[in-house]
Amino acid sequence: MKKYVLALDEGTTSARAILFDKKSNIVSMAQHEIKQIYPHPGWVEQDPMDIYANQYAALTECIAKSGISADEIAAVGITNQRETVILWDKNTGRPVYNAIVWQCRRTSDICEALEAAGHGEYIRKTTGLRIDPYFSGTKIKWILDHVEGVKEKVLAGEVLAGTVDTWLIWKLTDGKVFVTDCTNASRTMLCNIHTGEWDPFLLDLLDIPKEILPEIKSSSEIYGTFECMGAELPVAGIAGDQQSALFGQTCFQAGEAKNTYGTGCFLLAHTGERAVQSQHGLLTTVAAGEKGRPIEYALEGSVFVGGAVIRWLRDELKLIHEASDSEYFARKVKDSAGVYLVPAFSGLGAPIWDMHARGTIFGLTAGTGKNHIIRAALESIAYQTEDVIAAMNADVALMNGENKSEAISILKVDGGASANDLLMQMQSDFSSITVRSSANPETTAAGAAFLAGLAVGFFADRKELKSLSATRKNFEPCMSESERRERLDGWHRAIAACRKFSESKEENT
Ligand code: ADP
Repeated sequence: MKKYVLALDEGTTSARAILFDKKSNIVSMAQHEIKQIYPHPGWVEQDPMDIYANQYAALTECIAKSGISADEIAAVGITNQRETVILWDKNTGRPVYNAIVWQCRRTSDICEALEAAGHGEYIRKTTGLRIDPYFSGTKIKWILDHVEGVKEKVLAGEVLAGTVDTWLIWKLTDGKVFVTDCTNASRTMLCNIHTGEWDPFLLDLLDIPKEILPEIKSSSEIYGTFECMGAELPVAGIAGDQQSALFGQTCFQAGEAKNTYGTGCFLLAHTGERAVQSQHGLLTTVAAGEKGRPIEYALEGSVFVGGAVIRWLRDELKLIHEASDSEYFARKVKDSAGVYLVPAFSGLGAPIWDMHARGTIFGLTAGTGKNHIIRAALESIAYQTEDVIAAMNADVALMNGENKSEAISILKVDGGASANDLLMQMQSDFSSITVRSSANPETTAAGAAFLAGLAVGFFADRKELKSLSATRKNFEPCMSESERRERLDGWHRAIAACRKFSESKEENT
């Protein structure tokens, strides 16, 4: 009798394994850190063997700690840091270079050349992405162009390339399974998100042979099996971390959205079977789905500095000891007394995309105190998220005309800072929507477990998954529309002034 599903959650900083039961309760968990390598400023790498070894260690530790037998596990799902690429020798299984991590900016020049050659529009239409070093394609090109001997090996048919999901499943199955899923593929800047296939023009443009890339599959099907602690386990779910969280939050229909409040904020809104092309600075991405279903899509917007602004209050300004203290101090004042903090520490992400902007605090008076600044910092997280929600609603409205049925009405939330009830209430007020915080803190891993469980019949269907998702708390808007408008107006003036300041610096230098 199969009683459990196991999720492998290979994130940027750690590899975790989490065992879920049929009610999606967490039964056991293990975690191993992943070492970060910074060879030059702006470059970020990891050792692929370190990723695999730590993921495998977490997997076996999680099962061993639980006291269950491995053959009670119905299936394994993988969720992973997206965009990170690994190339390896298919005969020896050894990487030809370190993993180039999503944060790595080394391919800026390649991206600028693509932009200058006028490929931006084609890439946007085909892949749903904007040209940026963030995505996998130019990272693969970099390894092919810069690592000695790799081009020759490619010609000899000895090299394979993939994102972290592909690497893990290839290693787990001893080289038998070479696949990725469409959510990971959609972040490579090489995949046509409308057909779910590698795009020949883009492969040609970046000089990447199709033969080195894995087959693109759905996010929920049996890809293969591997031997583990005496059992043969099917790998049956794959999704990139943000899409996995969207699935784990059971956002399956147009207008259902989730925001992860971590270091940054990652907001994804499901748009059903329609790939909505953003006119407002968002990305179009593939949402996780089962085999045999049409491809489903989401709009995605990321905020660079979310919870990180609270960490900054703690580590740099030393206004608080713990991130959670922010709620205590912010509640001591009734509002931020006209103070706006714009945390553009490394530019502004969606929907503004201004890499030159730098942070600032507006509206200070002699009466401004520490608590107002802490409150304004929390508000900045909610304001930035609201800007992404407004952009998403505007994009969907452009496609739907007067039909408002697919506008975001409930925002499901997770991530470290979603534990802050004051922040969640601010979000509900500024966005005038219900904010629903999940009882399960591990929504990313839950997504992978759900996808794997569906593929093997451990979970019946999406309806059953919906019935499993428990709510910790709902936050309802209680701010008047006029006050909301006034606050947002102040925030947008602060953003404009902040950008103006950074612009003047550019002009003067
Ligand atoms: P990540 O996965 O990006 O490392 P987490 O989901 O662990 O992030 O969330 C950690 C971030 O959330 C930190 O930047 C921290 O400052 C912030 N954070 C954690 N708890 C709270 C809280 N109660 N209130 C506000 N911010 C918080």
